[in-house]
This record gives sequence, structure tokens and C-alpha cells, in this order.
Amino acid sequence: MKTLTVIIPCFNEEGIIEECYTRLKAVLDTLGPGDGMLFINDGSTDRTAQRLDAMAQSDPSVSVIHFSRNFGHQAAVTAGIHHCTTDLAIIMDADLQDPPELIPQIIAKQQAENANGVYCIRRSRVGESKFKLWTSKKFYRTFNRISEMEFPLDTGDFRLIDSLIMQEFRRFKERGKYVRGLISWVGFKQVPFYYERDSRRGGESKYPVKKMLSLASTALVYFSKKPLQAATGLGFSAVLIGIILAVWYVFGKIFGYTQAESGWTSIMITILFFGGIQLLTIGVLGQYIGVLFDEVKGRPEYIIEKMVNGEPKTSDSQK
Ligand code: UDP
Ligand code: MG
Repeated sequence: MKTLTVIIPCFNEEGIIEECYTRLKAVLDTLGPGDGMLFINDGSTDRTAQRLDAMAQSDPSVSVIHFSRNFGHQAAVTAGIHHCTTDLAIIMDADLQDPPELIPQIIAKQQAENANGVYCIRRSRVGESKFKLWTSKKFYRTFNRISEMEFPLDTGDFRLIDSLIMQEFRRFKERGKYVRGLISWVGFKQVPFYYERDSRRGGESKYPVKKMLSLASTALVYFSKKPLQAATGLGFSAVLIGIILAVWYVFGKIFGYTQAESGWTSIMITILFFGGIQLLTIGVLGQYIGVLFDEVKGRPEYIIEKMVNGEPKTSDSQK
């Protein structure tokens, strides 16, 4: 019987963390011994930390990593994978949108197919705004079109991974982690599992538009060079248009078919058009340079203040 750790990142989830524990505990009790939960408290400012510590005190199968501040969902999941010591891990949100009761079926799927990973595909998502559904649908499709490999659509971080995938994941040196992309990138045998996503059990979404954009930008910049190539493409088209215009005006001057007073409009259009393209491409370059800057600094991805029921590792000791 394989042992399992459920990895749960939490940021200000005081209202639902206990229900999350109770429901998970009920499921884990039906599975083998040696299974546990690993909560990552991502710098919560409410009573999440105290609630998690109380759980860990009364239940040795609960471990808690406390970050020194909020490092973000992806850093929290990364720390969970770095610290997992069991054969299998399931990554799950604390808000119970991904029902813990599905865990036995996910494990059964992994065993039946002899797979290294099972990624859960949301067939439906209740209780989410039209905006979120639309942006996420568009994002996954655009991401697939411009990234350098195929990724399963409509999957979040809710998934099962085995020790082989975890071992390879720990070798990633990049600081900006788009976890679901990296796990697909690793390869091996990963199979889909379809499920209906519930609505949040309480509290607010911890993914405001700003965080969503930042995740999307990490995903795109780390998984694709196409925006840079598109910048080159735009540059080429601009040069082509420039040459055509130049030829048109020079011939116009010689053969007298352009009038002097029509100059203002054409100059303005050219300046705006080329200026726009230049700023756009500089912006694209800026995104990549910003990422290079972060990577070159090589700061740790997260800092652990303390770990309850376990030995903390620094994010660098994994490298
Ligand atoms: N989360 C986190 N750090 C953050 C933001 C979110 O650890 O900075 C956790 C959060 O507590 C939850 C999970 O990541 O367990 C997913 O967040 P949420 O449910 O708010 O995202 P949504 O489902 O709205 O996309
Ligand atoms: Mg959620």
C-alpha cells in the first residue's frame, strides 16, 4: 500500500480550514496508515496559523509549514512538493472546491492505469464569476497555442503525482514556478480524471485579477518564446510597410501624384504606428528581462519560519 500526503496551500482560510481538515481526515481514515496532510500557511494574517497548529498538535498526521510572509500559491505548492516524503502526493486547495471525497477514486485511477500522475479536469465549475470562467478558458487555449508543448486544458493544480514526478520536480531550478505546467512538462504517464468542481465553501477567492495576471504571465514567459518571435515578426512587417510607404512617396514626388499638404496625416500615422510597435516590443522584451533579472538574483522561492511535525528544508537545499 502506497503512502499519501495531501498538500494544501492556505492563505487566510480561517473560516474553512477546520472543515477542510475534518473532511480530509474522514477520507484518509478509509485509506492506509501512514497517510497525512501537509498544510502550507502562506503568510496568513488571520487565525489560520493558530488553527493549523492546533490541528497538528492533536493529530501527528498533520504537518504545517509556516512561511515568513505571503509568497504566493505556486511557491506554497512548490514547498509542499519539496517537503513531501511519501510515495504519492495530492495537491488540493483549502477551499474545498476540489472535493476530498474524490481522493480514493483518483488513487484507484492511478493504480488501474499504472500511471505516475493523475490530473483532474474540471467538467463544470459552479459558483465562479462569468469573468473568471471566460478568462480561464481563454487562457488555457491561448497558452496551448503559444507554448512549446501541449498541455491538458482546464486543469488546475488539483492532481496526484508519484515520487518519480516529485523527484524530477525538485530538480527545477527556476524561481518562477507554474506548477501545473512543469508537472506536465516532466512527462511520464499522466492520465486525466474528470470531476465537477464545487463552489468555495467560505471566504473570498485569494486570486484577485492581479494575481491571476501574474500567474498567466509567469506561465507564458516561462513556457514560450513566441512573444519574442512575434516582436521580431512585427518589426519585419513594420519595415515592410515603411519600405512600401517610402517607395510610394518618393515616386509620388517624382511623378507628382502626392500633394505636399497631405504630408501631415501620413507622418502622424507613421509615427503613431511605428511608435506603438516599438513600445509594444520593448514591453515584451521587458517581461523577459524582468524574469531574467529575478532568476539571476537567485533569491529563495520561499522562506520558512517554522515547520510543525516535520523538518523544514530551505528551498535551496532542494536544488
Ligand atoms: N493561496 C495561497 N497563497 C496565495 C493565494 C492563494 O496559498 O497567495 C491558496 C488559497 O488559500 C487556496 C488556493 O491557494 O487554498 C487557491 O486559492 P483560491 O481558492 O482563492 O483561488 P481560486 O479558486 O479562486 O482560483
Ligand atoms: Mg478556490
